[in-house]
Amino acid sequence: MLGPIAETDDRAMPLSLGRALNAVASLGRAALDFVYPPTCLACRAAIAQSGALCARCWRDIRFIERPFCERLGAPFEQDLGPGLISPQAMADPPAYNRARAVARFEDGPARRLVHRLKYSDRMELAKPIGRWMARAGADILADADILAPTPLHPLRLLRRRFNQAALLAEVVGQATGKPCDFTLLARIKATKAQFGLSRAQRAENVQGAFRVPAGAEARVRAKRVVLVDDVLTSSATANAASRALLRAGAASVDVLVFARVVTGA
Ligand SMILES: [Zn+2]
Repeated sequence: MLGPIAETDDRAMPLSLGRALNAVASLGRAALDFVYPPTCLACRAAIAQSGALCARCWRDIRFIERPFCERLGAPFEQDLGPGLISPQAMADPPAYNRARAVARFEDGPARRLVHRLKYSDRMELAKPIGRWMARAGADILADADILAPTPLHPLRLLRRRFNQAALLAEVVGQATGKPCDFTLLARIKATKAQFGLSRAQRAENVQGAFRVPAGAEARVRAKRVVLVDDVLTSSATANAASRALLRAGAASVDVLVFARVVTGA
């Protein structure tokens, strides 16, 4: 008698257990949504489901899609055909090979998201932002051997307690299965904030700011590296970091950010 029942139970158990666990999980979610009603990731307006943008921010955020310059990842006004390089990238080529970004940084939801990621709510935001980045950077990530976050100077890290670029790199790594190396690159110079500096001053400010530590050189050599950061503004930081990786023998460096400044980038 035990036999058939046990057999039936064996087959039925996983299903009903699964259903029961699902029910508990959705109850848990519902309870959580009741205590912390879901809000827009950018503006905190009430929304139906957590981990998303409200309709207004969704309308206002300016996602970067093709056509864009294959080198800089900056959008073109008109589609002139695939594989184009902007005059700006030809006149002043970056040290990195290609850059990709999810959205324009200029005023709006993208700027608010970056600010919240840096100064609050980082755990809530790193996941969705990192997943968007994995999608926007699919072409450069497909070619990548290793991901490296743009490092903070140890003093700044101490003050801020976390590096938002490292959080994003971790999520992008999880989403793509690419390994993430947090100590591939070191920031050896405490630079001033880039805000308010001219293009030339920005380049000078970050000159020599990065180095591949002696112990990490073997991990860089002949590798195709994707440098991960939250924002790309003048490219000065990304260029300085890319040069350090290339000097240490990286085969190539691509750059993946959440948001980039488009005008005068
Ligand atoms: Zn919103």
